[in-house]
Amino acid sequence: MIVNFRKVTPTPLDFNIESNDIVFKGSLKYDGENLVLLEATISGSIDLDCYLCAETFVLPLDEEISFLISNGVYSNVNEEYDVVESFEGNIDLQELLNSEIELIKSGYYSCENCKQEERN
Ligand SMILES: [Zn+2]
Repeated sequence: MIVNFRKVTPTPLDFNIESNDIVFKGSLKYDGENLVLLEATISGSIDLDCYLCAETFVLPLDEEISFLISNGVYSNVNEEYDVVESFEGNIDLQELLNSEIELIKSGYYSCENCKQEERN
């Protein structure tokens, strides 16, 4: 789902993307100075490899995310939010979701078995 930057107003624009077992749901709102605030939740589940035993397991997701999207290069510093740059006047929500998923996948997660062993 691609949203044209100019279509985003101070009235929140809801979106809902379902991709595999993941639901990415939230809103976009114009925040001034060529910035759009995205507030969303990522829920569902993804398959991950345990970093200890390399076994694949399902990780339930329930993440709240919020960040600003800049129309073009962002050269200021925002204290409150991370700023993601978008280009060509478009906000590609699928791509934003993909990079969030990549971020989650780049963490270290252990499967239930390994978690239990760690506790013993
Ligand atoms: Zn494991």
